[in-house]
Amino acid sequence: MDDRFNAYLLRSDVPGRRSGPLAGRTVAIKDNISTAGMETTCGSRILKGYVPPYDAHVVSLLRDAGATINGKTNMDEFGRGTTTENSGFGPTLNPVDTTRVPGGSSGGSAAAVAAGLAEMALGTDTGGSIRCPAAFCGIVGFKPTYGRVSRYGLVAYANSLETIGPMGRTVGDISALLRVISRPDPRDSTMQGLPYEHDPVPSVRGRTIGVPAEFFGEGVDPRVAAKVRDSIETLAACGAKVVPVSMPTMKFALAAYYITCTSEASSNLARYDGVRFGPGAEVQRSWHDAFTAVRAEHFGEEVRRRILLGTFALSAGYYGRYYGKAQTARAQVAADFERLFRSVDLLAGPTMPTVAFRLGELADPLSMYLADILTVPANLAGVPAISVPCGSVDGLPVGLQLMGRPFDDETVIDAAAAFEAEVTA
Ligand code: GLN
Repeated sequence: MDDRFNAYLLRSDVPGRRSGPLAGRTVAIKDNISTAGMETTCGSRILKGYVPPYDAHVVSLLRDAGATINGKTNMDEFGRGTTTENSGFGPTLNPVDTTRVPGGSSGGSAAAVAAGLAEMALGTDTGGSIRCPAAFCGIVGFKPTYGRVSRYGLVAYANSLETIGPMGRTVGDISALLRVISRPDPRDSTMQGLPYEHDPVPSVRGRTIGVPAEFFGEGVDPRVAAKVRDSIETLAACGAKVVPVSMPTMKFALAAYYITCTSEASSNLARYDGVRFGPGAEVQRSWHDAFTAVRAEHFGEEVRRRILLGTFALSAGYYGRYYGKAQTARAQVAADFERLFRSVDLLAGPTMPTVAFRLGELADPLSMYLADILTVPANLAGVPAISVPCGSVDGLPVGLQLMGRPFDDETVIDAAAAFEAEVTA
């Protein structure tokens, strides 16, 4: 396998079982998902050499289903990023155009699928990390409803926002992979609802699709917006009723997301202290000095920035001002979705405001955070959201995003299948 794109951090060729729904099929796994006996670094130098003693729930399900796990994929360190340039092991390149980023943080998984190195992949989505790279690499990526796939064995970034989900070349593959990984697991107490056991029905007939004006606001490339509007027309031609709607809480979605995710990240990263995880700290030094040295040396810049932001947001005296407020804002975003889903079945808009960035283009962290504006609302509310390829601008792929009611992943998959059938017909 020729990995010119730095999609993989580790390759493996142990074939899966001969029977099962995924027998003979290759699946690449994002490197923040634990694989027994296979190094799992989360794209971080601090975990170099760490080999988990157990499989994540989704990984045991894949093995039981006969899948061949063909490696661990590159990612932004601990999932923090939108380009896969924040990996401790070098950036992944976009197979469509190697001067561009594949998107992030599941950029390695998307590149592996887009380049044909794996048929399917698992990614994780905390604020868009499955949908963004799917859009930038021209593949399908799905963030299931929060609680529908077990997070047991996923190295935590922001527990209340993240889900594991499928990436693939077709909606059919996404659905097949989701059927396998969406099985109950008593070890994840946030699991809810029934497992996904659906076979896609490519139809949107009779569905109402809301199009929030805010998804086409300032910062969205007009050429991307035009492609997505055409795609929504295609869905209307397939029998959907399309209505304009408004999501006023988009104003504070990004701020609510970044306060919440950095707070959870700062707490989750405390365990990398050179004692429990990470390269051994120098024993002659005081614990505080040793802890600081290990973390300063082995964490990348973006991870350190998030720790500082999150620790500040959670500190006594500022908790109410930042974290508390972010939770109120988050509840309002969820209420906005709830209100809209009383009159529409789906919401549609672009996945990303632009096409894939050039390598190095988003050097300023704030502009990187802004690129997440269209993906974070679904995470704040826990709703299912898919990105399906819907054409290209200057030869670079554009993704159409469809979001649905919580635990109605089936309707989202059906609509995506209808769109795919129409454009590939
Ligand atoms: N880009 C977002 C972030 O940096 C989302 C990342 C993700 O979904 N893991 O937090």
